[in-house]
Amino acid sequence: MTFKDLGLSPALVKAVEEKGYTKPSPIQEKAIPHILEGKDILASAQTGTGKTAGFTLPVLQYLSETKHPKYRPLRALVLTPTRELAAQVYDNVREYSKYVNIKSAVVFGGVNAKPQIATLKNGVDILVATPGRLLDLHDRKAVSFKRVDVLILDEADRMLDMGFVRDINKIISFMPEKRQNLMFSATFSNDIKKLAATILRNPVSVETAPQNSTAKKVTHKVYKVDKKQKTELAIKLIKDNNWTQVLVFTRTKHGANKLTEKLIKAGISAAAIHGNKSQGARTKALKNFKDNSIKILVATDIAARGLDIPLLPHVINFELPNVPEDYVHRIGRTGRAGAAGEAISFVCSEEVEYQSEIEKILKEKLNSSVLEGFEPTDTAPPKRAATQSKGSFGKKKKQRPSNGNPGGSTDDKRPKRKPHFKGNKPAGATSGRGRTGAPKKKRY
Ligand code: AMP
Repeated sequence: MTFKDLGLSPALVKAVEEKGYTKPSPIQEKAIPHILEGKDILASAQTGTGKTAGFTLPVLQYLSETKHPKYRPLRALVLTPTRELAAQVYDNVREYSKYVNIKSAVVFGGVNAKPQIATLKNGVDILVATPGRLLDLHDRKAVSFKRVDVLILDEADRMLDMGFVRDINKIISFMPEKRQNLMFSATFSNDIKKLAATILRNPVSVETAPQNSTAKKVTHKVYKVDKKQKTELAIKLIKDNNWTQVLVFTRTKHGANKLTEKLIKAGISAAAIHGNKSQGARTKALKNFKDNSIKILVATDIAARGLDIPLLPHVINFELPNVPEDYVHRIGRTGRAGAAGEAISFVCSEEVEYQSEIEKILKEKLNSSVLEGFEPTDTAPPKRAATQSKGSFGKKKKQRPSNGNPGGSTDDKRPKRKPHFKGNKPAGATSGRGRTGAPKKKRY
């Protein structure tokens, strides 16, 4: 099977060939023909599967075939949960559209809106955006959704987790009823299924990996260790094994900063990436990590979501996530593009329940061991009983729990927005836009 066999135009085939792709990935092979036919799709695909080209190529083809000779209204919109993912998707869109007369742009928060407004004024066919900034721009009449006929929700599960559902529904309310909808998600909780049911029309299901499964070539390893020994363990593993590119996940922004400082003190080049960092700092950290000028990137789940870091050999879960699906997302960053990867988790006594929840979702036991000199002695009880947590395999999961984390606060759900609640938000609360004073309610 070639890209040409999938029905893609010579201009698009040329662009992907220049990228060095020799054949379509499984998700591309399955999704592209349906998208070209104008069907809605619900695709289960993690970052690293080539899903971006999977939706971008057929949408570019549609846009170029149906282009108005004079006008350039916004006709395709890609919504992503994070700024980094938006930037990444946009880079892909630009590369793939090199030989077609299609204009693209990206908008996200944390940077000056003025240049974004100017770009939109000049006319854009396909826009990649994070929901919050996009609605701000819509409020300012910088963009109209009236002519949008393809909507793409990328990493829909994470957009729900981040409380973007109200924004998404609001954006959709400004769009024509008749349009094509493409939804991509790595995991399928009941909430995702509900959202899909409200947005998609007779969708074709496209699956490339079993639901909630991690990449096959990833080996999972758990080190049982005391909480206070985790930093030393990370330093030892990185130094002893001479690892040169490791993505480390911490559950909190504070934890990410603290660990980064300690790694640097130990002579290991590292940077942190999380919601409290400026966009400039986040972009720089990611660039340095990708071009190997730093060895370690310490990230919170939200900041790391969807990052395209090719051939990442090691991921360390400095703490296990308290939402088991996040483990799947984290591991999606390793063993990419057919390469083998190693997912290492540091598990202290407080986290044993998180481990069993993850094992349930993966349907496999994680291989646990103890490293000499790091034998655990802690007896602190688990943070919560397994029965309390309802992941996608349990009952309705409303929001990521924002309390019960050992130390620090969780990463921002909505960076740069004023909180509507003091302290931790009640479960299920969305931050909403709150401009109209209308009661905030879930719309799905
Ligand atoms: P994505 O899952 O969209 O983030 O893509 C992951 C990586 O795979 C990106 O670096 C793409 O450039 C690359 N990629 C996408 N499609 C292909 C393909 N057909 N062959 C080889 N690499 C690809």
